[in-house]
Amino acid sequence: MFGPPGAGKGTQAVRLARMWAIPHISTGALLREAVRAETPLGLEVKAIMAGGGLVDDTLITRVVQERLGQSDTKPGFLLDGYPRTVAQAQSLDAFMTGAAGPPGSAPRDPLVVVELFVPEEEVLRRLAARMVCSECGANAQDDKDFSSCSNCGGQVVPRVDDAEEVVRKRMDVYRRQTEPLVEYYGQRPTFRKVNGDKLADEVTAAIVAAVDDAIR
Ligand code: AMP
Repeated sequence: MFGPPGAGKGTQAVRLARMWAIPHISTGALLREAVRAETPLGLEVKAIMAGGGLVDDTLITRVVQERLGQSDTKPGFLLDGYPRTVAQAQSLDAFMTGAAGPPGSAPRDPLVVVELFVPEEEVLRRLAARMVCSECGANAQDDKDFSSCSNCGGQVVPRVDDAEEVVRKRMDVYRRQTEPLVEYYGQRPTFRKVNGDKLADEVTAAIVAAVDDAIR
């Protein structure tokens, strides 16, 4: 699933992964956790993320392929925030066909690609209001409790990269680096566009219908 920052990918991915009982793999969340834990990866990407830029393709692809190599992804998985560039999409295709995995990797079922689209004014409004848990990274608006995180009780704070000037940079990066994925995936029978500018429940239902239709 891809879409601009604030399109609701995280919110939808949490719901869908729970519904389909498959792992939700959010590259943003994986990276934020690495930053919080101050791992070598976290230290390497901290400044890039805070500035709204994209982490190096090779680095993020290694993180994702390592995660996809774990056995819980066998029945399926939901990627949230990856791929974000055409180079990443090409790496993912190679992985899915078995060409990029360990020797003898079996091909996986075709990707279903969902573009979640939302007008820019709405995205800016959402990001200005977004609050996340400083401990576990959950979105606070998902449960409408802004005092503490309902998932872990942690403190709820704005995301550092939701500051206005960083959001402008992230939107620009999205337009230049991620939007070309519409063309990259556009002709595939399993590509669907879903309007994310609706109530969360309606968007969930629309994604489920789109995915059902794509795999039918
Ligand atoms: P997100 O939570 O998806 O908005 O991601 C937060 C930040 O993590 C992005 O602004 C990037 O700095 C970094 N990031 C997440 N996913 C990727 C990716 N696929 N490629 C490069 N950087 C990424």
